[in-house]
Amino acid sequence: MAEAGTLHDAFIDELRDTYDAEKQLTKALPKLAKASSNPKLRQAFEAHLKETQGQIERLEQVFESLDEKVRGKHCDGIAGIIEEGKSIMEEDFDEMTMDACLIAAGQRAEHYEMAAYGTLVAWAEAMGHTEAARLLQQTLDEEKAADKKLSSLAEGGINQRAADAAHPDEEEEEPMATGAGAGRKTPATAKAGRR
Ligand code: ZN
Ligand code: FE
Ligand code: FE
Repeated sequence: MAEAGTLHDAFIDELRDTYDAEKQLTKALPKLAKASSNPKLRQAFEAHLKETQGQIERLEQVFESLDEKVRGKHCDGIAGIIEEGKSIMEEDFDEMTMDACLIAAGQRAEHYEMAAYGTLVAWAEAMGHTEAARLLQQTLDEEKAADKKLSSLAEGGINQRAADAAHPDEEEEEPMATGAGAGRKTPATAKAGRR
């Protein structure tokens, strides 16, 4: 009868999964960059590609610090997220909408990674693997910063330009509240006037 696995075994498994996820992302990020129309968005994806290559090396250091062979194990989760991103890129959206969708796809990946590294840091700390914890925390910080950068690009103009293209008749900001002047916001009018 095989002995039951420990948290340390689960930790090594998660490291291998994450190592593979990062490798998949080095192939996906150039595609997101290429599909971007906004130059700042393209630069953000390109910058995060460079960071991702550093994260792969950092994971190799983590394996070394634990006297483990560097090895990946197919990450189904990120594969699914990347697959969804590919489907979006095949859609026939206007440029602004595509940029907004690329950000959405990128942020799904960043959040997946934040969850993975958050767990890895916590487990490393709990088991006293301080060097591993330190390295993994550095990557967690980079993933959070990448996510914030994408939010700032989305909220700093990309979403609004896409929204304006979707609703060109609504130049002025309108309050969402009901009452005088809110007639255009009724569902019936919205259906007729938009799309
Ligand atoms: Zn351990
Ligand atoms: Fe990463
Ligand atoms: Fe990332």
